Amino acid sequence: MDRMRGRNAGSRFALFRKGARRIREGLEQIVFPEGAVCLGCGKISDGHALCPVCRAELENGELLESWNQEDIAGVPAWSIRPHRGLARKLVLTLKHGTERRAAAELTGMLRSRPDYFPSFPPDTVVTWVPMPKRRQRERGIDHGRLLAEGVAKELGLTCQALLLRMGGGRPQARLNMAGREQNLQNAFAPAEKIAFPVLLVDDVLTTGTTARRCIEALRAAGAKEITFLAMTRALGDG
Ligand SMILES: [Zn+2]
Repeated sequence: MDRMRGRNAGSRFALFRKGARRIREGLEQIVFPEGAVCLGCGKISDGHALCPVCRAELENGELLESWNQEDIAGVPAWSIRPHRGLARKLVLTLKHGTERRAAAELTGMLRSRPDYFPSFPPDTVVTWVPMPKRRQRERGIDHGRLLAEGVAKELGLTCQALLLRMGGGRPQARLNMAGREQNLQNAFAPAEKIAFPVLLVDDVLTTGTTARRCIEALRAAGAKEITFLAMTRALGDG
């Protein structure tokens, strides 16, 4: 009997939490009606996520350090922009808010990718670094998934969840290097066997610990061709 009541209370709480999220999102819609305010400068825009000035900044700013390629665990790891200015603002908006338009603006940068950016075989599957389940429930949105879906759309590829989040619940940004390594020990597991090329997407590349753990999990599932793509690259504490 008590057990039944406990379960009902649990589901009521889940309902309450869902309701609270809807109300919060509703309020955000009233204060910041989607499509009316520029995500960069906050000025009223003409229905686009960025006003013309901010769009020009995103498209033309920081180009010298854009489209950077490095090596993480033997995998080509790309980042589109340095973690500064408007690109950084969009990543933070996406990470800490419910603003889906930020994901579309970030992945839209792929439209102006340079010739040296790789092209992917058509059977490549785009996937993402899953966030801890608790945070996913709190936010009701997995921003990594939004980015992966956007990247897949821009590149004409399919998008699929290939990684499961097992642990590593502490926010990486608050930990030092050793803490990060420990926090993410066995944090990711593959969802299935992988016999196709994989493009792994994340918002920001900082120390590369998260990417490395995900690459290891993908390799354990059989993935041979892996590419990593982050929207921004942070140096130091970013
Ligand atoms: Zn603007």
